[in-house]
Amino acid sequence: MAEHAPAGPDPAHQLDRADRLERAVARDGSACVWCGRELGGLVRPTTDHLVPRVKGGPSWLENEVAACRRCNGERGHTSPVDWLLECRRRGWPADPGWLRRRLEELDAAVTARGGQRRARPYVQAQLRRVRRSAGAA
Ligand SMILES: [Zn+2]
Repeated sequence: MAEHAPAGPDPAHQLDRADRLERAVARDGSACVWCGRELGGLVRPTTDHLVPRVKGGPSWLENEVAACRRCNGERGHTSPVDWLLECRRRGWPADPGWLRRRLEELDAAVTARGGQRRARPYVQAQLRRVRRSAGAA
């Protein structure tokens, strides 16, 4: 397994959607990454894209996180950093350090696999913002 080496030949981006959601939960925990509610039962887990698909975000494990349906729907096409700040305004436990790690892993995957002409600058701009705001959050 190469789960800790996103720049390697890990075929994780080729898993099907259900497998990727399962692995996102294994990676990030069984609570919604934004509001912290435990996923399962009435809190339906959904696949949320860090870089929204309309912004060119790929359907890769590195771009996907497990979020509750409410957060996924409310966030819409809001950028992950803006949505993280909104979550924190609401008193939710969304973690800037976690988002920074996710974006760094996504950036490394994009670098390793190439392409992603739209997603790449988006990820890098988000990464700069989360690095600046991490100290103040
Ligand atoms: Zn949520």
